[in-house]
Amino acid sequence: MMISRRAFLKYCTACAASLGLTQTGLEKLEAALTGAPTIIWLHGSGCQGDSISFLNLFADVAPVGHLDVGTVLINHVNLAYHTVLLSSAGETAVTMAKQAKRKGGYVLVLEGGVPQAFDGRACLIMTNNGKEATYKDAILDLAGNAAVVLNVGTCACYGGIPMSGPDAGNTNPTNVTSCWNFIKTNFPSKPVINIPGCPAHPAWVGWAVVQLILGAAVPLDNYGRPTALFGNKDVDSHTLNVHQNCPRNPSRPGGNTLATTFGQDDLCLEGLGCRGPAAFSDCPIRKWNDGPTGPANWCVDSNGMCLGCVEPDFPGGNFYA
Ligand code: SF4
Repeated sequence: MMISRRAFLKYCTACAASLGLTQTGLEKLEAALTGAPTIIWLHGSGCQGDSISFLNLFADVAPVGHLDVGTVLINHVNLAYHTVLLSSAGETAVTMAKQAKRKGGYVLVLEGGVPQAFDGRACLIMTNNGKEATYKDAILDLAGNAAVVLNVGTCACYGGIPMSGPDAGNTNPTNVTSCWNFIKTNFPSKPVINIPGCPAHPAWVGWAVVQLILGAAVPLDNYGRPTALFGNKDVDSHTLNVHQNCPRNPSRPGGNTLATTFGQDDLCLEGLGCRGPAAFSDCPIRKWNDGPTGPANWCVDSNGMCLGCVEPDFPGGNFYA
C-alpha cells in the first residue's frame, strides 16, 4: 500500500495551511521526498478513535474535496502496518511490518496505552510465526529501528482512560502505562513526539508527519507535545490556552456570561466544570471538521465543555472543580 510521491505532495499542497506549510516549506518537502513516509501504526489499550480521526482529515481536504475511505487507503496513506486498515491480514500483514523493520527509518505510530499486567496479554495485537504477540512485545520489537515514535492520542501519550481505572479507587487492573513512559524506559534515546487528544486532531498528526519528513526541529513542551500545537504552559499561560482563546470567555471583549445549566447557547461553561482554563491546544482557533472555513465546530461551540483531553491528567485530576 505505497503512496506515490505525487499523491502525497498533492495532499500536502491541498492542506498546506492546516499543516503549517508555506510555499518554501512545500518546496523543501518536495525535495525531501523520495517516496511516502513509511508508517507502522500499532494499537494498544484505546478505542481506535485516533485512527478514525486521522482518516477524516483526508475525507475533507479542500480543494480535493470529499474522499472516501477506500481512496484514502489506496492513495494517501503509506501504511506498512495498521491493525484494522490494511488490505492484507494476519501473517501477510505482519510480513509487511517485518519488511519495514528491516529497512528501518520509519515512523512508529502508537495509539493506546501499554497493558503490563498478565505479561501484557490483555492486549494481543498480532500473530507472528504462529505465536500471539502482545502490544508490549510488538513495541519492543519495532521501536528500535524506528526513526521516531509518534504517540497519537492521550492514551498513548499519558495513559488516558485505560490507565484511569473503573472505580473510585482509580485502580488500573491491567496496569496500563503510557507509551511515552514505556519508550522512555526501554529506549531512552529514541525521539518521541506526543500528539495527545481524545481523539487527536487529524491535522495535528498530519502536521507532525510533515515536520518529520522535512527533518524540521519540533520544539516540545515538558509533556512531549509540539509547542506549535499546544503552546508551552509551563512558560506561557496564555498562548494556545483554550480558555484564553475561547469566544465565550467572559473577560474577552464581547465575551459572555456564565451558563447556569447545559444547553444555553453561547454562555461560558466554567461554572459547570469546563476545563478550558487548564487546557492547552489550538482547538478554539483551528476547530474540527473542516477547520475555520468549513462547517467547523469544537466542544464548546456545541455546548459541551472542554474536557481538557490533551492534558496529562485526563480524565482524572480535579475534573469537576
Ligand atoms: Fe473558558 Fe470553557 Fe468558558 Fe470557554 S466555555 S470561556 S473555555 S471556561
